[in-house]
Amino acid sequence: DLWTARGHVRFDDVRFGYDRDRVILPDFSLDIPTGQTIALVGTTGAGKSTLAKLVSRFYDPTQGSVTLDGVDLRRMHPKDLRRAIVMVTQEAYLFSGTVADNIALGKPDATLDEIQDAARAVGAHAFISALPDGYATDVNKRGGRVSAGQRQLISFARAFLADPAVLILDEATASLDIPSERQIQDALQTLLADRTALIIAHRLSTVAIADRVLVMEHGQIIEDDAPEVL
Ligand code: ATP
Ligand code: MG
Repeated sequence: DLWTARGHVRFDDVRFGYDRDRVILPDFSLDIPTGQTIALVGTTGAGKSTLAKLVSRFYDPTQGSVTLDGVDLRRMHPKDLRRAIVMVTQEAYLFSGTVADNIALGKPDATLDEIQDAARAVGAHAFISALPDGYATDVNKRGGRVSAGQRQLISFARAFLADPAVLILDEATASLDIPSERQIQDALQTLLADRTALIIAHRLSTVAIADRVLVMEHGQIIEDDAPEVL
């Protein structure tokens, strides 16, 4: 049977540094209840992406623990972890292959119907359908070129289809035109429903839809409030 995560994430007294002589997170604790959306903001080098990498297990803490539903990530089966926690990065990386393959990355057995439903949910179906070969368009071929905003939507469709309990999003800094900015925002709202999310936020509009905003500096949280307060 498949284990299904609820999505309760906790950092307990986490200490972490990439190099032995330079600590990035001296003593970090944070409780993210199931279903909560957190927007993480703060100066460059504060440790925001480092937190994201610890939740996705690119790295493990030197001391302390990161847990999902009370289970230390180090004790979880990698397959369960990959299903439960999905990270969408700034680059919104597309690999060579069709648009459909790119959306199905986290669920290779997905049917075309499921792929299209995911694309519809995040508002990507219209532009994909307008590509030369629709969902069969090779993203690296002529005519298959997609814009930054469209790449982001494809990666949202991928995450929506994978349907993880926890979503980690390192938001793109690249500026988008106004219509796609709106589209991304709508897609994000859909994507966030019914899951826990940790978003490294670069847009004010993202901060506004979060349940809680954390301001980070030098590996520590210096503010923790509802968005209305900030
Ligand atoms: P930004 O807003 O610029 O993305 P950030 O808050 O995401 O910043 P991090 O990427 O977490 O910051 O980096 C925190 C610190 O860790 C920085 O001093 C950075 O130079 C350092 N760092 C990040 N990645 C590595 C790495 N792979 N090896 C060594 N040091 C790293
Ligand atoms: Mg970063």
